[in-house]
Amino acid sequence: MSDQKRSVAAQNRLAVVNQKGGVGKTTTAVNLAAALAQRGRKVLLVDMDPQGNASSGLGHPTRTVETSVYRVLLGEAKLEENLLPSPVEGLFLAPATQDLVAAEIELVDEADRATRLRSAIDELLATRPFDDVLIDCPPSLGLLTVNALIAANEVLVPLQCEYYALEGLTHLMATIERVRAGLHPTLGVKGLVLTMFDARNNLAHQVAAEVRKHFRVFEAIIPRNVRLSEAPSHGKPVTLYDAASKGSVAYQQLAAELVTESAP
Ligand code: ADP
Ligand code: MG
Repeated sequence: MSDQKRSVAAQNRLAVVNQKGGVGKTTTAVNLAAALAQRGRKVLLVDMDPQGNASSGLGHPTRTVETSVYRVLLGEAKLEENLLPSPVEGLFLAPATQDLVAAEIELVDEADRATRLRSAIDELLATRPFDDVLIDCPPSLGLLTVNALIAANEVLVPLQCEYYALEGLTHLMATIERVRAGLHPTLGVKGLVLTMFDARNNLAHQVAAEVRKHFRVFEAIIPRNVRLSEAPSHGKPVTLYDAASKGSVAYQQLAAELVTESAP
């Protein structure tokens, strides 16, 4: 399917990506997805991290998940058969299980190994419309992340404003360039989301200013907020767990920004 047709099928197809762990990818994927659904949009969150944090954050810990995106990548199941409901109406989850970690090795001899997720999402969208598809990536730039990049139209990069953040970004952008040069020339960068932001920290402001020189950065800034770290243990996004908390409000602002600009 052409890129143009794909973007008609879903307004946003976003890979939430950063090869660094603990920068707020999963927190962003889960809470942005929830905030979008709470605005009345149909949202799909695909968990591509074998750790399954996005799945458990939406009430489906990996030990309770029977069939996952692993079987989809191996061609043993369709994405449609894998969708689970979430605590938020309109938000569906394609869960991960730990065996996803083996997919990288098991697919190594398959010529279409990098485009399997894209094909599965295209097939799903042909019969079941979603406004937004978000893909939560593992903390690496391996085959699972490459599948997510090729399945997406654009990337959304959560960034923690610390000293090494820019170095990591250079590496990530080089990977995006390689994907563009290969299988997905139109892959775009939607923008960077500043996460765990501590407004009292001077370095955070310096890093934010530097990043803004080179990239589009969303106006919504996600503060460090304990409610965001508590919500997953209740199997809920923060927008349900504590809707008025600063973290929840920030993700609602991010969703509003995204919807405003993707309006036709
Ligand atoms: P990643 O998916 O990039 O590895 P996570 O989203 O899992 O990162 O976040 C790492 C840890 O930090 C988690 O325990 C999460 O609950 C916590 N966390 C993420 N964002 C925030 C925030 N804005 N404020 C406080 N804690 C956060
Ligand atoms: Mg994660």
